[in-house]
Amino acid sequence: MTVGRFAPSPSGRMHLGNLFTALLAWLSVRSQNGKMLLRIEDLDPDRSKQAYIDALKDDLQWLGLDWDEEMPLQSTRSEFYGRAFAQLPTYPCYCSRNELHDASAPHASDGKFIYAGTCRNLTDDERKAKIRKPAWRVCVPDREISFTDGIFGDQKENLAKECGDFIVRRSDGVYAYQLAVVCDDADGGVTEVVRGCDLLNSTPRQIWLYQALHKPVPQFYHVPLLVAPDGKRLSKREKSLDMAHLRSRFQPEELLGILSNLAGLTGENNPVSTAELIELFSWEKIGKDPIVVNSLI
Ligand code: GLU
Repeated sequence: MTVGRFAPSPSGRMHLGNLFTALLAWLSVRSQNGKMLLRIEDLDPDRSKQAYIDALKDDLQWLGLDWDEEMPLQSTRSEFYGRAFAQLPTYPCYCSRNELHDASAPHASDGKFIYAGTCRNLTDDERKAKIRKPAWRVCVPDREISFTDGIFGDQKENLAKECGDFIVRRSDGVYAYQLAVVCDDADGGVTEVVRGCDLLNSTPRQIWLYQALHKPVPQFYHVPLLVAPDGKRLSKREKSLDMAHLRSRFQPEELLGILSNLAGLTGENNPVSTAELIELFSWEKIGKDPIVVNSLI
């Protein structure tokens, strides 16, 4: 059976971009008679708020995007993530932000920095001499990780050459998103992950974690981002596109009409029901180019 999920972070009110991703995730699952999970990604205690959790559930329901089960809050699962962490080849990293920057090699293609492995081979005595609380990195392999994204096609990355050992536990003890998301999706039996294409470059790291933890790798669909007419990403700061505003201006079926037209499912902005959209939905209709949202909204 297909198992999909919504995985919103409760760090703000949902906005058009989150809804767009949520709608496609929901349509994919419902068009295959699958199971939909809701998981609140409140890993970051400083940014997550109960009011946003309540609002995002209410917003999804208002739009008609239901779910079959709710997974535990990520903030309650530290022990569970810790068991996976214990199975990984990790080491403590004491580097400060500045040291990281100085000791990293620039990424060949996009100017990002690759961790140079500074703390990988410290001796026990060197570790004991450190004062800073460490973050924990996982040793990545020097081989290509490849997968076929349902929208972006064949992808590959050599983690050792293009990413470097990455953090799986922060110095404040919070497990990193990369690890938590893999543990949770594996635990929920998730078979397809639908999310924004800003996370496409996290996927090789996550696939490697699935492999290292001996868990089956789901199918990934990275959906295009919604952008403003100037090409810039629509941000949460764009208040006119958050759900409070959208709900004051549109009925659910009107908003579904706009979203499904942006997705290329309908070719018009007319109101449409979730049931009609399930009939119309196919991944083949979804392109990979950024989608420009104009003044209509
Ligand atoms: N919580 C993430 C977000 O709201 C999504 C993570 C994921 O889907 O893997 O952007």
